[in-house]
Amino acid sequence: MSDTDGKKPLGLRGARPGNVKQSFSHGRTKNVVVETKRKRVVVPKPGAAPGAGSTGGAVKGDPSKRPAGISDAELERRMKALAMAKARESEEAAAREAEEKARAEERERRRAEAEAKEREEREREEALKAKAEEERRKQEEAAAAKAAPAKPAEPQEAAPPVDAGPGRAVPARKTDRERDVRPERPTKAKPDRSDGGRRAGKLTLNDALSGREGGRQRSMAAMKRKQERARQKAMGGQVEREKVVRDVQLPEAIVVSELANRMAERVADVVKALMQNGIMATQNQSIDADTAELIIEEFGHKVVRVSDADVEDVIDSVEDNPEDLKPRPPVITIMGHVDHGKTSLLDALRKANVVAGEAGGITQHIGAYQVTTESGAVLSFLDTPGHAAFTSMRARGAQVTDIVVLVVAADDAVMPQTIEAINHAKAAKVPMIIAINKIDRPAANPDKVRTDLLQHEVIVEKLSGDVQDVEVSAVTGQGLDELLEAIALQAEILELKANPERAASGAVIEAQLDVGRGPVATVLVQNGTLRQGDIFVVGEQYGKVRALINDKGDRVAEAGPSVPVEVLGLNGTPEAGDILNVVETEGQAREIAEYREQAAKDKRAAAGAATTLDQLLAKAKADQNVAELPILVKADVQGSAEAIVQAMEKIGNEEVRVRVLHSGVGAITESDIGLAEASNAPVIGFNVRANAPARNSANQKGVEIRYYSVIYDLVDDVKAAASGLLSDEVREKFIGYASIKEVFKVSGVGRVAGCLVTEGVARRSAGVRLLRDDVVIHEGTLKTLKRFKDEVAEVQSGQECGMAFENYEDIREGDVIEIFERESVERSL
Ligand code: GDP
Repeated sequence: MSDTDGKKPLGLRGARPGNVKQSFSHGRTKNVVVETKRKRVVVPKPGAAPGAGSTGGAVKGDPSKRPAGISDAELERRMKALAMAKARESEEAAAREAEEKARAEERERRRAEAEAKEREEREREEALKAKAEEERRKQEEAAAAKAAPAKPAEPQEAAPPVDAGPGRAVPARKTDRERDVRPERPTKAKPDRSDGGRRAGKLTLNDALSGREGGRQRSMAAMKRKQERARQKAMGGQVEREKVVRDVQLPEAIVVSELANRMAERVADVVKALMQNGIMATQNQSIDADTAELIIEEFGHKVVRVSDADVEDVIDSVEDNPEDLKPRPPVITIMGHVDHGKTSLLDALRKANVVAGEAGGITQHIGAYQVTTESGAVLSFLDTPGHAAFTSMRARGAQVTDIVVLVVAADDAVMPQTIEAINHAKAAKVPMIIAINKIDRPAANPDKVRTDLLQHEVIVEKLSGDVQDVEVSAVTGQGLDELLEAIALQAEILELKANPERAASGAVIEAQLDVGRGPVATVLVQNGTLRQGDIFVVGEQYGKVRALINDKGDRVAEAGPSVPVEVLGLNGTPEAGDILNVVETEGQAREIAEYREQAAKDKRAAAGAATTLDQLLAKAKADQNVAELPILVKADVQGSAEAIVQAMEKIGNEEVRVRVLHSGVGAITESDIGLAEASNAPVIGFNVRANAPARNSANQKGVEIRYYSVIYDLVDDVKAAASGLLSDEVREKFIGYASIKEVFKVSGVGRVAGCLVTEGVARRSAGVRLLRDDVVIHEGTLKTLKRFKDEVAEVQSGQECGMAFENYEDIREGDVIEIFERESVERSL
C-alpha cells in the first residue's frame, strides 16, 4: 500500500531540479540549479510480480516460488534492482514529457512574442507617422504663427503623440516573460537591429530635434557634397566639370572672343591657350582657321570648318515674289566725251529741279541726287559722270545704272570717248538716250550728230530708230524737261521694280573718310529699305547705320529702292562699287567682312605673284630692261586715290613703268603692309598715315612708307624714281609721336596741347603734323615745347609736355602730333 504512495512522489521529486544558493565573499550569492538524485526505494507491488520479470515481485511475495539457491538477501537485492530500473524508466519518461512540454511552451512563447513584436512595430510606425504629421502641422503652424505668434497651445498638443510611439512600444516589448526567457534574447535583438528598429530609436531623438525622419543624416551628406562642389569651383574645378564636346563652326578667320563664345569657354582661357601656343592675341583680334583649330582641339571640341561661301549665306538672297514688287525710280548715268557738257547738264538738271522744288535750297553733293519731273516721275541721277566710274562699278558687280544719257555736243562730233560710252552701255545692256547738247551754240548741227551715231549702230528716233534723242542746252536750259520726260518714258518701258519690304541691299557710289564723321559712304539702295539701326556688311567693311542723310542734306529715317543716301556708322571706308547688304547680327556682318578682307588679300597676293612672274617672263623673252615699279596708294578720299592712280599710270618710259598694286581710302593698315611686302613695293600715303600696328609691321618687314600732301610732289618723286634720276634729296624722317591728352587755353600763347610723347622724341626745332584719325589736319612748326614750366629743346618718349602750334589753334583731345625732321638721304624709291 505504502509502495504505491511512495512511488509517485519519488518519481516526481527525482525529475525536479533543485535550487542551491551559493554564497561568495563580499555578500555575493548565486543560485545554482542542482539535479538531486534520490535513492530509490523499490517496493514490489502485490500480485504484480509474476508477469513483471523472471525475478519479479512473485519471488518476493512467495518465497516458495523463488528460484532455488537464492537467499533472502539476494532476493531482496534483486528486487531492489528491479524496482530501481522501473523507477529510472518512469523517471526518464517524465523528463521527456517535461522537456516536450517546455518546448511547446517555448514555441508558444515565441509565437506570442513575434506577434507582440509585430504589433509593436506597427504601433511604432504609426506613432512615427503620426509624429511626422504632427511635426509638419507644427511647422506649418509655426510658419503661420510667425504672423501671429501667440499660439502656444499647438506645440503642447503635438507633444503627446511624440511620446506615444515609444511609450506604447516599450511596455509592449518588455514584458516580464520576455525578460525572463534568456535564450530568446538574440531572436528579439536581431530584428531590432536589422529592420531599423534601432534607427527608429535614434529617429525618435532626431525627430524630437528636427522633426524629420532621417533628415539629419541625409542633409549632412548633401551638405558635404555641396561643400565639395563649392570647394572644387573655388579651386578652378572646372577641369573636373563634365566636359561638353561642341561642334565649333570655324570660318577662315575668327575673332578670339567669338571663338571662345562658340566653344562656350572663357575668353581668358582661350587667350591663355593662345599664349601658350606662342600667339599673343587679345580677345578682339582675329586669328586664322589653323590656329583656331589648334585651340579648339586643345579644348577638346570638334572643329567644323565652314567653307568660304557659307559665311556669305546669311545674306538674304531669296528671289522676290512678283506681287511684292513695287515700281521704283530709274537710276541714270550721264556719259559722253570730255567737254561735251556732262557736268553742266547734271548741274542744270539738278538746279532746275531745285528751283522748281525748293527755291534757294542748298544742295548737297553726295554722289547722286533725285529729280522729280513735271509729270511727277522721280529719277535718280548718279553724280559721277564718265564711263570710268560706270565701268569700275560694273567690274565690281554693281550694275546700278538703268539708263545711260549719252551727251554729244551738237557743235562737235562723235568722239572716241563717245564711242567708248556707247560700247559700255551696249555691253551692260543698258538703254541709251541721246542728249544733243549745246544746241544754243550757233555752230550746232544736231543732225550731223544723229547721222554720225548711225555708224555706231545707234539709230535715233528721228531717223526712225528706237533710241530717243533730245536736243538740249545745259546753259539755257532748253530741252531739259523734254530730256526728263524722255527718261521717265524709258523707265516706264523698262518696268523697273523692287521690293521695299525686304532687307536692304545697295551699291556704294562714293566713299570717304570724313574728318568729323568718320567713314562715310553714299549708297544707292537697289532693293529693300535701308533703315537707321540696320546692321550691314559692305565690301570688306561692316557697320550699323548710325544716320542716313539724303541728297538735300536732311537726315532721314529710311531709304527705299533707288534712293541715294549717305550712310554713317561704318567701321572703315568701303570702295565705290561695293555692295551693301543688311544682315541680322553684327557677328555675321563682321565675319563676312573679315572673310572678304582675307579673300581680297589672298587675291591681291596671288595677283602680285603672278605679275612678278609675268614680269620675269617678259624680261626673259624680250631681254629688255623694262622695270615695273609697284606701288600701293592710300589716300584720304576716293577722288585723290583715283587721281593718283591715273597720274601714276601715265608715268612710264621705255625703261620703267609704275604699277599701282592697290589703291584705297583711309589709314595705311597692316594688310597694306603685307601686300607691299609681298610685291616689294613702297606704300604711298596721301594725307593719311599708317596706324600703329602697320607702322610696326613696316619697320619689321622693311616696307617703306612715304607720306605726301601734294600730288605733284608725289608725281615728281615717282617720275624721278622711274627715270632712274635718283639723286639725293631732302627727306622727312619721323622722330616721334605724341598724343594730346588735354587742351588748355593759355593767355598770350593761345591753345596749348598737354601731350604725352608716345614714341621717339619731341623736338622744338622739328616740323610737326597734326593727325586726327590718321588723317593729316595740319602741318607746321611748334611755337612752344614746355616741360612743366620750362621751355625745353627735347622731350623723350614716355614724358609729358606742353605743345602749341605756330599759327594753328584747332587742336583736340585725342589728336596725334607727328614730329619729323628733314634730312638729306639717298633716294631709294
Ligand atoms: P564735261 O567735261 O563733259 O563734264 O563738260 P562740262 O560740263 O565741263 O562742259 C564743258 C564746257 O562746255 C563748259 O565750259 C561749259 O560751260 C560748256 N557747256 C556745257 N554745256 C553747254 C551748253 O549747253 N551750251 C553752251 N553754250 N555751253 C555749254
